[in-house]
Amino acid sequence: MELRLGWLADVLGDSPTLKLSGQAKELLAKGEPVINLTAGEPDFDTPEPIKEAAHRAIDEGGNGYTASAGIPALRQAVATHYSAKMGVTIEPAEVIISNGAKQILFNALSMLLNQGDEVAVPVPYWVTYPAQIAALRARMTPVVPSQPGWKITPEDLERAGAGRAKALILNTPSNPSGAVYTRSELEALADYFRMTSFFILTDEIYEDLVYTDAGHVPLMTVAPDLRHRIVTVSGLSKSYAMTGWRVGFGIADRSTIGAMNRLQSHSTSNVNTVAQKASLAAFGCGAKVAEMARAFRLRRDVLVESLSGIDGVSFTVPDGAFYLLADVRGLIDPDRGSGGDWRLAEHLLAAQKLATVPGEPFGVPGHLRLSYAIHEDTLREAAERFRAGVATFGG
Ligand code: PMP
Ligand code: GLU
Repeated sequence: MELRLGWLADVLGDSPTLKLSGQAKELLAKGEPVINLTAGEPDFDTPEPIKEAAHRAIDEGGNGYTASAGIPALRQAVATHYSAKMGVTIEPAEVIISNGAKQILFNALSMLLNQGDEVAVPVPYWVTYPAQIAALRARMTPVVPSQPGWKITPEDLERAGAGRAKALILNTPSNPSGAVYTRSELEALADYFRMTSFFILTDEIYEDLVYTDAGHVPLMTVAPDLRHRIVTVSGLSKSYAMTGWRVGFGIADRSTIGAMNRLQSHSTSNVNTVAQKASLAAFGCGAKVAEMARAFRLRRDVLVESLSGIDGVSFTVPDGAFYLLADVRGLIDPDRGSGGDWRLAEHLLAAQKLATVPGEPFGVPGHLRLSYAIHEDTLREAAERFRAGVATFGG
């Protein structure tokens, strides 16, 4: 009998962001002078108090399994932190600790969706949303923003028929566009949500990396009346420079959290105990988080300035996260068919040793995502290489 893997093995591709950043890291390890603008992770080190807490956790022992939803003290700390941030009371039973925001999303989508359900997803979207939706045999309904700036409006949702969906994924600040929803924009969306019955997964993993005076506004703050339908996705990966520690938080109705925890108890059990105990020190590191956010803002400004005025390249200034989404359609030869963003990314890597991510897996072919999670001097050099590479690109 022929040995055959299941259907998902045939359809699921690698995470393009992880794959491309892995390739760039490999080239660097071989001594190639690559500048890596693919990385979806801070270049800073984890704040000292968190590292010290990890050392203590190892030395003190007691590192067996924990409750699968997380150690009570960490669930309590998350509940306290977000109660203050959101202005609504969150109980520890409404919190789960998982292996990064990625597992929070997968747990939540697994528990909310039935086969064939629709999930409304604004364009551009983070590459993992369509992959997880497909893995659950659900369907993605892309919601295309009609205004420049990459933010959807109730009219966009209406036009996409989002009312049919079982769930909607919102991402603010956005990967890959850096767009940040303001309070009034969220209020308008919440008015639309009230006319529907879908769940709203709000991915706020970049919540502390916002460069506007108004800052980040959690959906929960704007629409506490919808709290039973809202799953907030966040964690320590980005704001606390802890991508490899794998600590994510989910905040939702206790019955949703209970279901997510049942899945987690059968799949990965708890997040590793040392990382959980170390994470107890995280919320005391607010000053360090703010310092890193200031550094990202400076880098954003450097990149925006250095990329201005390149023929055929345009972008909306990102207000948050650490990505800039460049529209490069003006550089692409339409006669050469699709894949122009991939051709440009390959050309920049080959000709200038500059690694970027094509927009196509984010739902925006003809764009490139540039991560500015690197030192500003390197960013200036990257912009020079970009300018030079673009000038020799054949379309
Ligand atoms: N959501 C978005 C929008 C992201 O960019 C990422 C990046 N990895 C994640 C979720 C997942 O974060 P984590 O590393 O905590 O799983
Ligand atoms: N989210 C990051 C990115 O978009 C990290 C890579 C990943 O988890 O896919 O690059």
